[in-house]
Amino acid sequence: MTTPASLHARHQAVMPDWLSLYYERPLELTHGEGRHVWDAEGNRYLDFFGGILTTMTAHALPEVTKAVSDQAARILHTSTLYLNRPMIDLAERIAQLSGIPDARVFFTTSGTEANDAALLLATSYRRSNQVLALRNSYHGRSFASIGITGNSRWSPTSLSPLQTLYVHGGVRTDGPYAHLTDAQYIAACVADLTDMLSQTHGNVAALIAEPVQGVGGFTNPPDGLLAAFREVLEAHGILWITDEVQTGWGRTGEHFWGWQAHGRAGPPDLLTFAKGIGNGMSIGGVVARASVMNCLDANSISTFGGSPVTMAAGLANLTYLLEHDLQGNARRVGGLLIERLRAVAAQLPVVREVRGRGLMIGVELVHADGSPSPRAATIALERARERGLLVGKGGRDGNVLRVAPPLSLTIAEAEEGADHLEDALRQAQTEIGGLDDSRDMEGGGQP
Ligand code: PMP
Repeated sequence: MTTPASLHARHQAVMPDWLSLYYERPLELTHGEGRHVWDAEGNRYLDFFGGILTTMTAHALPEVTKAVSDQAARILHTSTLYLNRPMIDLAERIAQLSGIPDARVFFTTSGTEANDAALLLATSYRRSNQVLALRNSYHGRSFASIGITGNSRWSPTSLSPLQTLYVHGGVRTDGPYAHLTDAQYIAACVADLTDMLSQTHGNVAALIAEPVQGVGGFTNPPDGLLAAFREVLEAHGILWITDEVQTGWGRTGEHFWGWQAHGRAGPPDLLTFAKGIGNGMSIGGVVARASVMNCLDANSISTFGGSPVTMAAGLANLTYLLEHDLQGNARRVGGLLIERLRAVAAQLPVVREVRGRGLMIGVELVHADGSPSPRAATIALERARERGLLVGKGGRDGNVLRVAPPLSLTIAEAEEGADHLEDALRQAQTEIGGLDDSRDMEGGGQP
């Protein structure tokens, strides 16, 4: 049998260098069930990252597996040239859930492609290639979506088909904004947006924003920020694209979509989704009101977007989510987990902040002087793995642990995971104690 070490060597020989892996000894996951996964050596892990939030409900959910195998046994054909029942079924459900009036849905195979489609629509509708994005954002890895990604670690080229204007409103630990109250922060971000707009010719196409930045480190924008932005955007006719790739489907507990935390902000003009809806199958998409969706005047197809197998998975997954009120579960169990982790943080100076909503929780790690410690995050990630817990990592400085388990997480599992994380954080506290800060230059996790 090939060992994980030799598989790693083969990975390095054939894959791009920038397709980086977690862990000193990278993991090969071979199977999963519920909230657990197993590696090739037979070790079992409680999964608090769900493959970057793709496992929305549970690993190997029987309802999803059956829907996929039933559909695959019938027909695997895919293209948008023929009527596709599962695609229409899922589009109807998502259109209705989106809150966007007269909504149309276009399916893609990833979040990147969903954002690309949204950008194509918004720029075509507005006849402008100027786009507003938030600092510290992540929206994908294609040519256009890299152009609106504000975190340079994830934006490998400065060339772009778009003119992007970055505004504040992403990570709140940003320099002069760090110590502001919520109301002051919103006012400062609106002033920044207004000032940025005053330097344009007035025909900016859209603002794209993650309601809670994902790769950016599970940030905590104040409720109402996007509503305040919306007022400014509306005055200029600028479209609002909400990127719900990480925040959608009830993950934040209180709301089904992240934008709903901003009350009177919505509904948005365009909404993009991906990740969790397929529970591991590749589904992405964009929802827009008909006038925006139909602004393109050439025919188009998507060969793989809306493939019946992925749509069958999405439908079964969404049905399970709604029938079992996993949004409510995210709120309840996530609330307990946040409380538990905050109690740990109060004892450990290495934890600057535990923040989050529902089952989207960020744990920000710092040195004694308050500067970001990506090294502490790496140590905690490794130590958690040794204890049988998988978590993620992110943030502008790579110093935030990301906790985003499948939404069916039980209270007992939340407590077990919190115990492991507490041990890992204590270990990180001890291990960075002796380190010189200047050595702490590591990068920031996977998107
Ligand atoms: N938008 C957001 C907010 C994301 O977090 C990601 C991926 N992490 C993407 C878009 C891109 O999605 P994908 O990796 O499916 O292309």
